[in-house]
Amino acid sequence: MLFTDFQLDNRLLQSLKHMGIDTPTDIQEQAIPFALAGKDLMASSKTGSGKTLAFLLPAMQRIISTRALSKRDPRVVILLPTRELATQVYSQLRLLVANTQYKAIKILGGENFNDQAKALARDPHFVVATPGRLADHLAQRHLHLNGLELLILDEADRMLDLGFAEQLKAINNAADHKRRQTLMFSATLDHTDINDIAAELLADPEHVAIGAAN
Ligand code: ADP
Ligand code: MG
Repeated sequence: MLFTDFQLDNRLLQSLKHMGIDTPTDIQEQAIPFALAGKDLMASSKTGSGKTLAFLLPAMQRIISTRALSKRDPRVVILLPTRELATQVYSQLRLLVANTQYKAIKILGGENFNDQAKALARDPHFVVATPGRLADHLAQRHLHLNGLELLILDEADRMLDLGFAEQLKAINNAADHKRRQTLMFSATLDHTDINDIAAELLADPEHVAIGAAN
């Protein structure tokens, strides 16, 4: 199958073409239809298998094709365990939003807090963040999640390893409404706490596991 077989906006297909990408990987082929259908999802596949586009494409599609639920942005929050991983995902997202009117920012630990507060106040549609710093902005009311439509947790196992469970729950609770969709991605599913966090954050999720997760 090809990316053109999914219900994706032409601007997204153009961006993929520019990246030289035309054929979905296994995780993309299986996860994207559930994510596009608005389902919650728990997905795992090994490192390097293309998980980033498996959530960025449906996230972009949802924002492009639906009206905002609220005047309050952000509409999408993507959480990653480390600055490096968040920066990588942010660069891929930038390539996708470049073709649209939507705005993405990153909020990482170790960077200027006040500058981040200002960036959040400018109502970005997408926020890519590490959980600790984002939870700090939430506590300071720099971030309003009542309009959040999509919460994405990437490398969920590593976020739990790094002790971010409480921050994930705080962010989840601040965005707790019926029309929110949650996508959780992980390299492994054998982390002891992953089922607990999934039970708390996901509603009636679909499960996609590719290969022997390692
Ligand atoms: P993971 O998050 O599963 O470790 P990434 O999303 O970082 O994997 O993707 C790994 C690499 O594969 C990236 O360089 C990405 O651009 C590339 N890639 C992703 N999807 C495809 C695809 N469908 N075809 C070719 N390359 C892809
Ligand atoms: Mg990844």
